[in-house]
Amino acid sequence: LMQLSVPLNFIGFIYREIRQGLTDIEQMFDLLDVRQEVVDAPGATPLVVEAGRVEFRDVHFAYEQNRSILKGVSFEVPAGKTVAIVGPSGAGKSTISRLLFRFYDVQKGAVLIDGQDVRDVTQESLRASIGMVPQDTVLFNDTVAYNIRYGRIDASDEDVRRAAGLAQIGPFIEGLPDGYRTMVGERGLKLSGGEKQRVAIARTILKSPPILILDEATSALDSHTEQEIQAALDLVSRGRTTIVIAHRLSTVISADEIIVLKDGSIAERGTHAALLKAGGLYASMWDRQREATEAEERLRIAREND
Ligand code: ADP
Ligand code: MG
Repeated sequence: LMQLSVPLNFIGFIYREIRQGLTDIEQMFDLLDVRQEVVDAPGATPLVVEAGRVEFRDVHFAYEQNRSILKGVSFEVPAGKTVAIVGPSGAGKSTISRLLFRFYDVQKGAVLIDGQDVRDVTQESLRASIGMVPQDTVLFNDTVAYNIRYGRIDASDEDVRRAAGLAQIGPFIEGLPDGYRTMVGERGLKLSGGEKQRVAIARTILKSPPILILDEATSALDSHTEQEIQAALDLVSRGRTTIVIAHRLSTVISADEIIVLKDGSIAERGTHAALLKAGGLYASMWDRQREATEAEERLRIAREND
């Protein structure tokens, strides 16, 4: 019986690994075709993260020839600080996170972590050092506990519960019919966008990476849920080098630096206050978004009075 059950377990293990690998990549980047392009350099060594300083140095990048996406982008995220990247859709914001993960190589310039070029380190060590809360989390068809523990496979039940608590989803999970053993995903309980995002945050809290990328998509959430998620995100990014890709400007006010990306170049940069004062692109984005929020609010009040 032993002889039979071991291989079967092993096949199950392999199947799970493959399935998860695929889901993870698809979920985050849709880039299966790209993984073969980027390989470890001969003699690549593990990334050594000391402080966790991130630098984009004159980065040029194109997915296809003759259509440059990033045209000489330079910025720095000092260790433990938060830099927000804002700008119109298609500006190249998510591309920046893909380059940090080295899902693609830059055509010119360099991406560095604590002075180490991401092309010189092993991809495994690179990806282990970066946590990502993606725009749209796809859950595995497994238990809630499994989905959170994916951040650190050897985490104890207690760790999982603590992470869920910090991500503001603990009480919700405990209220489910089977608690942490409730099956979720396509073939299980379907969670709302906000609930899924909090599961992803719990996963990231568990992984506890020195570098974080938050590709926010809180625009689809109601403002109460958004505030809860924001609180969880603030908690997870505290003391970690963080890049926030922001769709809602309300979430970038406290960033150490805001970078406004437009057509692949940095159009403006500075703190929230300085950018408002400058009265440029950021200031007009801010005005437009405030008007939209106010209109939304009026609509909500009108509905409530019906
Ligand atoms: P943002 O996140 O600012 O909305 P992205 O970084 O996702 O923008 O994309 C920047 C540009 O690159 C867009 O014009 C997009 O269509 C293009 N792009 C993104 N991914 C790919 C890809 N895999 N192949 C070709 N073009 C891409
Ligand atoms: Mg994007």
